[in-house]
Order: sequence, then C-alpha cells, then structure tokens
Amino acid sequence: EKKVVLITGCSSGIGLSLAVRLASDPNKRFKVYATMRNLAKKERLIECVKSLHKDTLDILQMDVTGWQSILDARDRVVEKRMDILVCNAGVGLMGPLEAQSLDSMRQILDVNLFGTIQTIQAFLPGMKARGQGHILVTGSTGGLQGLPFNEVYCASKFALEGACESLAILLQHFNIHVSLVECGPVNTDFLVNLQKAELGDTSLQHVDNLTLNLYEKYLQHCGSVFQNAAQDTEDIVKVFLEAIQSPSPAFRYFTSGDVPSLTKLKAAEPGGSRYISALSKSMFSSEEQ
Ligand code: NAD
Repeated sequence: EKKVVLITGCSSGIGLSLAVRLASDPNKRFKVYATMRNLAKKERLIECVKSLHKDTLDILQMDVTGWQSILDARDRVVEKRMDILVCNAGVGLMGPLEAQSLDSMRQILDVNLFGTIQTIQAFLPGMKARGQGHILVTGSTGGLQGLPFNEVYCASKFALEGACESLAILLQHFNIHVSLVECGPVNTDFLVNLQKAELGDTSLQHVDNLTLNLYEKYLQHCGSVFQNAAQDTEDIVKVFLEAIQSPSPAFRYFTSGDVPSLTKLKAAEPGGSRYISALSKSMFSSEEQ
C-alpha cells in the first residue's frame, strides 16, 4: 500500500523538489498530494513530473493561512488518511525591525507559525485515531539561533521549534513521529519571495545610519553565503527521505549533516554572550569584507 503524503508550499523550492522526488519514486511507494496556495503556479511541478506519474501525484489548492482552504484540501484526499504530513510553506522577512509594519510581521507569523500549526491541527485527529503518522516540518537555522535583520522570521521559526517539541512529547503516545528538518541556506526562490527592505526604500528613511551600514554589510554577507554555501534542494530532499524512511525518526535532522558550529557554540554557553559576539563578528567585522 502506498504511503499517503501531503506537502505544503509545492509551487517552488524544497516543496516542489520533494513532491517530484516522492511522486517519481521508482517503486511507487508514495501517493503525493502536492499543495500550493496558487494553482496558477502548478506548471513548474507538472513540467518536472510529466504525465508519467498520474497515479502517484495530485495537485491541490491550499493556502495554509486559510482554515477552510486546509479543510477543503484534506477532504479531497481520496484515501481518507494521512501517513506523512510535510509542513513546508514558509516566507522570510528581512530588514531593520523599526521599519517593519505590523501587517507584514503578522503575515510572516500567519504563514510560518499559524499556517503550520493549523495544517497539523487539521490532520491530527485522523492520525491520532489511526495511531500512526509522521509530521515533518521544514525548520531553519534561524529557528535555533538569532540572526540580525531577521527578528520576526527567527521568532516564527523559534516558535515552531517549541510547538513541534511540545507536540512530539505527546504524540509519542500515539505512535506519531514529529521531525524538524533544519536547513541552512538553500538555493530556492526563498530570497526572491521574501519580503525584504531594500536600501533606499522609503520605509528605511528614518532608520539611523549605523543600522543601515550594518544592514548593508548583512546583505553582502547574506549574498555571499548563498552564493558559496547554499545547498541544493536535492540535498534537502535526501534528508527528508532519510527521515521518512526511518523506522524510528529523529526529532531533528540537520541538512548539512552536522550541527552548525555557531549552533553548537550557543548550546555550549547558556549565558549566550559568546554566540552573540561570534555571530556579530562573522557578519560585521571589517576583516571579513
Ligand atoms: P520558496 O519560496 O521557494 O518556497 C516556499 C513556498 O511556500 C512557496 O512555494 C510559496 O508559494 C509557499 N507559500 C507561501 N505562503 C503560502 C501560503 N500562505 N500557503 C501555502 N503556501 C505558501 O522557498 P523554500 O526555500 O523552498 O522554502 C521552504 C521552507 O524552507 C520555508 O519554510 C523556509 O522558511 C524554509 N527554509 C528555507 C531556507 C532557504 O535558504 N531557502 C533556509 C531555511 C529554511
């Protein structure tokens, strides 16, 4: 029997690659419900899987910020069960905190935090009743350690860590596994899709010069990190596969294979100062430029 999988945010990036990989499984082990907010963007996915996999792929509309949209997608799952739920949809928000509107901050939390939680809420009763299932969430290094100019994004991803860990403890009693797949930079549309303050934007008009200088350095740092160290979505998909196939999945997977050294540093010193100065040095010190 095929494993039934539903993935959110499949119009691009990690969600798209994962949907393609699972739907193209040589042994046809999965029935994939690839969901996306805007079905007009389904061409890329269709192009990747061609018509070979009609029986392993279904594309559904699902906006994770709409409860009814989530329920409608759930009700269109013909198998009436969910084996593997992948909460992947997410957006970024970058810029000096004082320049961000409440609306834009709410939107990030709506998608990343409440969108993930509501998706889980919709499928949880069914998984509990069957006494099996695996919930996977695309996590981020920004959910484990703070990053300047990403305060609200990090808040949303830190929040997911807490929500998932809390849930994992309870769901052990239901034979339901929860896993976070922690990604560093990945080559996707993420940087294009995120809401980002650009130097020169009117929203930055009243921001002080030191902040703007540091923001400029941050953007350069970010650009070079993505250029030099970003993983490809295939690398991330491998880690998802490992988690999905494991008989006893871990709670956290690190896509780079190891815990990032700054995350280790943070864990090693609960007082937190060493992490804060090390990160600041790595991003802003002029020797780096
Ligand atoms: P992406 O922008 O290509 O994909 C994100 C997807 O989420 C898009 O398809 C987008 O349409 C979808 N989405 C946004 N709002 C939605 C909504 N309301 N309902 C349904 N779908 C919605 O970027 P990605 O890198 O593939 O991002 C996937 C996940 O990976 C995100 O949760 C992101 O936070 C996380 N992540 C990405 C990186 C990175 O560097 N790319 C690093 C760490 C974590």
